[in-house]
Amino acid sequence: MLTRRITYRLYPSTSQLNKLFYWRRMHAYVYNGAVSNRITQYRKFGHSVDYFEQQASLPGFKKTWTEYLELNAGSLQATLKRVDFAFVRFFQGLAKHPKFRPIKQYSGWTYPDARQGFKVHSDGKNGYLELTDLGCKIQMRGEARTWGKSTTCTIVYRNGKWFASITVKCIPVRETGNGAIGLDFGCKTAIADSNGNKIEPPKFLKEAQSQINKISKQLRRKRNPEKRKVKGSRRWKKTQARLAKLKRKVANKRQNWIHHQAVDIVSCNSLIATEKLQIKNMTRKAKKGSKRKRQKAGLNRSMLDVGIGMLKSAIAYKALEANAIYLEAPTRSLKPTQRCNLCWKLTKKTLNDRLHVCSNHQCNHQEDRDVNSAQVCLTWARGLERASLDGDESSSTESPKVRYCGGFQQLAQTKRYLTHGSTK
Ligand SMILES: [Zn+2]
Repeated sequence: MLTRRITYRLYPSTSQLNKLFYWRRMHAYVYNGAVSNRITQYRKFGHSVDYFEQQASLPGFKKTWTEYLELNAGSLQATLKRVDFAFVRFFQGLAKHPKFRPIKQYSGWTYPDARQGFKVHSDGKNGYLELTDLGCKIQMRGEARTWGKSTTCTIVYRNGKWFASITVKCIPVRETGNGAIGLDFGCKTAIADSNGNKIEPPKFLKEAQSQINKISKQLRRKRNPEKRKVKGSRRWKKTQARLAKLKRKVANKRQNWIHHQAVDIVSCNSLIATEKLQIKNMTRKAKKGSKRKRQKAGLNRSMLDVGIGMLKSAIAYKALEANAIYLEAPTRSLKPTQRCNLCWKLTKKTLNDRLHVCSNHQCNHQEDRDVNSAQVCLTWARGLERASLDGDESSSTESPKVRYCGGFQQLAQTKRYLTHGSTK
């Protein structure tokens, strides 16, 4: 069984809409209160508050603030869990210190348990979402590729629209061919495969850039709310909405392109090999005072416009659905860009060398740089397959950041462990 997340657009009635906004505000208060609680307890009393302490104080909190009684208990715990996530990520050095969230920017809340709080009346396509604390059904639209038993539901308010993001336990099915392919991602050619095919990078951002610049300039000339501690003008709000819409469109186009490419690759190949990439390191800003600052910024922009990270994870999870093998070669030790696919010798290259010319005089192999790199990855994967090694560390599909923080399932385990530990 795999977990899949499906997002539905919600169409609430006016009274439902008011309730949703009201609850969002209440959850934002809880979030900010929990953050403030942690900060003051630590600063004034040197006491570190953890999730369990905050969860245990919820019943008392509801006695004082009776308006919270109508909210689902699980969803309040989930909001506290969000605070915990934020602090855990901060302690691990993965994020900045958690901040207070303005209500206007607060995204929503989660129902972590399918047994209480929400019910989905749908067979995957459209349907109704029933929130028990609301007492009636909200119409929703959307379609799931594979449907199953719903486990959690997150209500999200984004770009002036309400969404329900529902996770389901299901067994997704996907077709795959019996080909084997090596892939190399870049910004000069977005995808180069081991068969010599090259896919040009999409230029969604570049196409929209002049329009974005134009609207950004208009926005800068209007009365801005944050800087002068005044209300933003109506024109400022309108222009900002236009800018957000434009940027969202670019992101949607990219997402669509990524899924199409990933489907094309997975539908014909059951062995997919590529190299591990550190996108964050690759798209790092140029050093201060560097002469190539603008050039590097442009390179970063075009690299991010392809969305290599998203593309790779889309391929990885689609491969998992199709029971295809997806392998990532260790870049540091394999060096696919430097290595020759025929004789396995290394040839040093700079970023500008677009052609691989083998430095080994007995070989003299010539190939496009990216295609060669893709072929090296494939050869490596085939070698791994032949040696029948388990690729469990390299074929992992989850991102490493998520693995460390405990989710709600791990939370139940920890709780059990803690209570057992205290009784013994
Ligand atoms: Zn060679």
